[in-house]
Amino acid sequence: MAAIDESDLTMGEDTVMASTEINGEQGANATVDPSEIFRRLNSPQFSPRKEQLPYSLKVPSASKQYYIPNASTHYSRESSSEPESDAMDITPSKSTAVEIRVPPPPRFPPLPYSSSKTGLVYDPRMRFHAEFPDFMMNPEDIHPEDPRRIHEIFEEIHQAGLVQGPDDPDEEASEEQCWRIEARSATTAEICLIHTAEHYIFIESLQDKSAIELKDISDSLDSIYFNNATFECAKLAAGGAIEACRAVVRGDVRNAIAIIRPPGHHAESNAPSGFCIFNNVPIATRVCQKNFPETCRKVLILDWDVHHGNGVQHAFYDDPNVLYISLHVFRGGNFYPNLPDGDYNFCGEGPGLGRNVNIPWADHGMGDAEYIYAFQEVIMPVATEFDPDLVIISAGFDAAEGDVLGGCHVTPACYAHMTHMLMRMAKGKIVVCLEGGYNLRSIARSALAVTRTLMLQPPERLADGLSPKESAVRTIEQVKREQSKYWKCLYPKQLDKNDPSFHATKRLHDIIREWQSQTLSAEYRMTPLAINKAELTQSFEHNVIATPNFMERHPLLVVFHDPPTVKSIPDPVTGRMELHNTWLTDVAKDYVGWAIHNDFQVIDVNIPKVVSIEDDNGGYIRSDDSEARAHQTRELAAYIWENYIEPHDATQVFFMGIGAAYLGLVDLLSNYENCTEPDSPVQCLIGFVSETSIQSIRRATDDNIAGWYYAHSLVFVQNSHHVWDPNRQRKLRKKWGKLIRSPKEKLDEMLTTHQDEVQAYLLKKKSEYEAELEQARLADERQQQQGLRSPPLASGMRSPRLLEQPRQGSVPTNNTKSKDMPPLGLFSVSTPRSPHGSPLRSDFPRR
Ligand SMILES: [Zn+2]
Repeated sequence: MAAIDESDLTMGEDTVMASTEINGEQGANATVDPSEIFRRLNSPQFSPRKEQLPYSLKVPSASKQYYIPNASTHYSRESSSEPESDAMDITPSKSTAVEIRVPPPPRFPPLPYSSSKTGLVYDPRMRFHAEFPDFMMNPEDIHPEDPRRIHEIFEEIHQAGLVQGPDDPDEEASEEQCWRIEARSATTAEICLIHTAEHYIFIESLQDKSAIELKDISDSLDSIYFNNATFECAKLAAGGAIEACRAVVRGDVRNAIAIIRPPGHHAESNAPSGFCIFNNVPIATRVCQKNFPETCRKVLILDWDVHHGNGVQHAFYDDPNVLYISLHVFRGGNFYPNLPDGDYNFCGEGPGLGRNVNIPWADHGMGDAEYIYAFQEVIMPVATEFDPDLVIISAGFDAAEGDVLGGCHVTPACYAHMTHMLMRMAKGKIVVCLEGGYNLRSIARSALAVTRTLMLQPPERLADGLSPKESAVRTIEQVKREQSKYWKCLYPKQLDKNDPSFHATKRLHDIIREWQSQTLSAEYRMTPLAINKAELTQSFEHNVIATPNFMERHPLLVVFHDPPTVKSIPDPVTGRMELHNTWLTDVAKDYVGWAIHNDFQVIDVNIPKVVSIEDDNGGYIRSDDSEARAHQTRELAAYIWENYIEPHDATQVFFMGIGAAYLGLVDLLSNYENCTEPDSPVQCLIGFVSETSIQSIRRATDDNIAGWYYAHSLVFVQNSHHVWDPNRQRKLRKKWGKLIRSPKEKLDEMLTTHQDEVQAYLLKKKSEYEAELEQARLADERQQQQGLRSPPLASGMRSPRLLEQPRQGSVPTNNTKSKDMPPLGLFSVSTPRSPHGSPLRSDFPRR
């Protein structure tokens, strides 16, 4: 096929009426001018045919020439299913005395908007753009941008009785039907409002290329096919969009739907891509702005195609008068068009800054809940503030339920709701232009729902209990924060880095930790431990603090905890957190204080919610990087064990893990055999678990590890934790440790409730050790008296009462705040921790 045969381009199966010509009228609907009803009532052809359409007004038969305004029965029920032999169910019953009067002629044209019609563009010639059949390929393997797409949509609307079809008897279309708007070829000048002349000439040249040449060219480009009809079809699609928009702007029709292809929104000014040749919607936008500078200045383009409309974004990126909003699957830029440009922080530039709104879904799977949420939270507020003169929907239906390529679940009802919401903008001037959508059934059903809505049919109800996915809520929150710089209606506002006072801001997170560090230092002379490991240093600076003698021969409590929690009563009007109405809860500190008073040495480890802030630009930081946090906690636990506990002399080591931090300690016990050997100083793990899952101890080479862990742990678990649910957990396992059901739910409450219990346990363990030590000392003495042994070690364990004095002055001063401190060895000059004869480690040689 060298060029398009003239006859191919004539009106084929459908007869398209000239633009703005009424197709005729029949029946009536609720919004029609009453005087019209009367005129038709007198006409012999009148038959109330389209009663199946909800909200149609059932009018009396021709013989009844009166009108009863007060009788509610005039207004039909929803569709009546039974075939009615008589459409006169509104005729007043004979027994009812009803006032009958003839209404006066209307003084004003009533409801001009609702009595005008919806326009529809469809031209079967746009089906000629098709992929050349490849005879090597499976005939089933049809390109998704299939010419049948537009036919399927048109037929659906036709079958619903909303538009005259080509084979319909040659009668006038009824009041309820769409008004056909003729598609024409867009002119060169119109297309070049968006595209370069080179691009236009290139597409034009495809008409004369051979099949092989076309295949080669398309293979060199991005997701596109061509044939010799491509140029004409693309011009028709653009022209269809233009005429639909012009008819709406002029007021010839109430609103319009353009069933056009090839689609447009991926086409760049100088290149076709993603099944798109000319960018129909931007071309129509520019034409309307040019033709109607007074009445069509500001245009909102809402793109609900599942792909980002890169071409539309780029066409108007610096234009303050075109607001482009796109909802699309983004997946970090790993979904077509695979550009970073679809991300939320692409907001326009120059005078167009803030006139580009991307809502980039993190993944597939979004549905009605997420789309409605986006409309309510971002799109409608922004659209209202923008106040456009015309709304164009780039209506791809590839986010529809059933479209495999899009993988989303938007129902026809949701498309109807979205249309309905946008219909209140721009005095109802809205045009729906088809973009993608590849499941023929899905696109037809969705487009029908949209068409019905344009024709003033209220949308179907949405499913009950819609609730947006957490990932979608986060996306919307991100968009709002970014766009709140440009839109008065959007909150929360971001910190303004250009604010002169910005340099004086500091995260409360840092302030509190520094304060904690200082308090612990002042009260207990605790000092920060250096963490000299590249990936941990930044995250845990100031977060690991120890009492001065933690390396010496004392019991040692190692507490891993979350940062203190903040409780606030925000101002009811501003929502702002004020310092005088904000409280800090730090129950972990109670344990630290208690332990020190009871002669334990303590290492206090705060695990920040956000473990590393790479680019602290004052913005919001998500707190859900739990993976990174768990990883860092594990690394830190191992580091502290290797450098600060295992090489030194603590007589007993008690691990305490609060919240998610406990996971890192279970991992430590799993991975380090020397934690659980019989001569290990590790006495137990005390865990506090609320939302976190229960971690089991695991060691491939040791079958007894579960038994050891059960005997050496106390894990307090919140009352409602699923581990207690007999439907989910048949029985408790030893590898989970000794689980204790707390009557409380929150960590702070649990810590307070079980404080006595934990403290009693620690003291008991400590005194058991002291008793054993004492016995060992006595045994040694006896042996010595019997002359059987050489003298014992220089000193036994220090008496707790003597601890206060030696601590003075023994602070390793260079241990404080120095990043250069060697990680181990420097201070391990004290006497060995293990007394000979201690029953705890008597069978094992001292290291
Ligand atoms: Zn698409």
